[in-house]
Amino acid sequence: MLFKRRLSLKKADAKVSNLAGDLRDEKQKSDIILNSIDDGVLLIDSQMTIQLFNPAAAKITGWPTAETTGIDVSQVIRCVTEKGEPIEAAQHPVREAFTTKKPFRDNNAILLSRSSKQIPITISVSPLLDQSDNMYGAVAVIRDVTQERLEEKQRAEFISTASHEMRTPVAAIEGYLQLALNDKVSKIDAKARDFLVKALDSTHHLGQLFQDLLTSAKAEDGRLVSHPTVVELGAYVEQLADSFKFSAEKKGLTTDFIFGRSSDSDITQGGDRVLRPLYYVHVDPDRLREVITNLFDNAVKYTPSGNVSVGVTGNNDVVQLFVRDTGPGIMAEDVPHLFQKFYRVDNSATRTIGGTGLGLFICRKIIELYHGRIWVESEVGKGSTFYINLPRLGTARAEELQRAEAQSMAPRPISSLTTPV
Ligand code: ADP
Repeated sequence: MLFKRRLSLKKADAKVSNLAGDLRDEKQKSDIILNSIDDGVLLIDSQMTIQLFNPAAAKITGWPTAETTGIDVSQVIRCVTEKGEPIEAAQHPVREAFTTKKPFRDNNAILLSRSSKQIPITISVSPLLDQSDNMYGAVAVIRDVTQERLEEKQRAEFISTASHEMRTPVAAIEGYLQLALNDKVSKIDAKARDFLVKALDSTHHLGQLFQDLLTSAKAEDGRLVSHPTVVELGAYVEQLADSFKFSAEKKGLTTDFIFGRSSDSDITQGGDRVLRPLYYVHVDPDRLREVITNLFDNAVKYTPSGNVSVGVTGNNDVVQLFVRDTGPGIMAEDVPHLFQKFYRVDNSATRTIGGTGLGLFICRKIIELYHGRIWVESEVGKGSTFYINLPRLGTARAEELQRAEAQSMAPRPISSLTTPV
């Protein structure tokens, strides 16, 4: 009996020592991982102070591990804007995770190292929640992406230079093909004409591809030229309506143009004249035309029969433009990728209809320039609606800006031209 008890005590001791060994092993394993990975890992407590700071985090930030324990995370992970100005406290990635209690990721953050060097990083913060959903800390992972950014920049520069250089010979080929097809300049038979028309079509497509590549490369590295002015979106779309109607009717599609909502803020004057609301926005009209034309062309391109409508509406803060079609619609799984570079839905329609997959990417980049948002709502078999929201300028502010624009364009009086400035 005594022997049996001793045996079971021995067994229990062995279990405890195994467990301690296992735990030691586990700690060793996690220490090995934390000390050897290239990503900076931080354990942050509920007061947002640092409790663990691995060697990679020390290397990226320039802060020795020993000096970081117990320090507020925002003093060590100092995030700044592209201009090097500190971001607002509420926008700090760790603060965002604490506020929302949800994982937060920023792929384009800029860290100010201890020696005030700007380092592009990605940062992801995962909240630690107990069973009652209380947040007792967070784990942040940071990665130095200096090399990736440099390579991206070099790639974009290459694409930009190559497409710029290739546009010139393509334009020359296009010009000569047009001359060959011109009755007044060349005599060709029907078969040759047919070949040349096809060659011209493809050359045009190639030129468009180079143009799109150039625009997207510029959009990515912030070199997109933009001269924003005050634009009244209703009148602006009305101007474009005729050419839109023409291209849709050529394909047998009907069109509608819808401005404002009758229930919104329309004013009736003198009984029958209806003034629609003025939807002012501050954008470069040429850039905006690129976006609206792209959405309209897509709607026509992907809609075999039916209707395409374009509308402008809004509320006090936002002006909304939409392009709606009765085409095939877009599957839900494709929707999140639609505004990414080179994304084309893989179906029989896109296999036969030409395209580059750059149009919607460029649209998004342009709309983001003006702090707007672009998205799509779609139902397979029923059609798609592409929406753009832009910040609305109040009429008084729009008129003030218009006056300032007119003044800056006006010729200066002779006296001011002769006065040295
Ligand atoms: P593309 O040059 O291929 O038209 P876009 O970036 O303009 O490139 O569009 C990306 C993809 O989105 C298209 O290939 C197409 O599959 C889908 N798409 C865009 N607009 C529509 C639409 N109105 N209806 C259905 N699919 C559309």
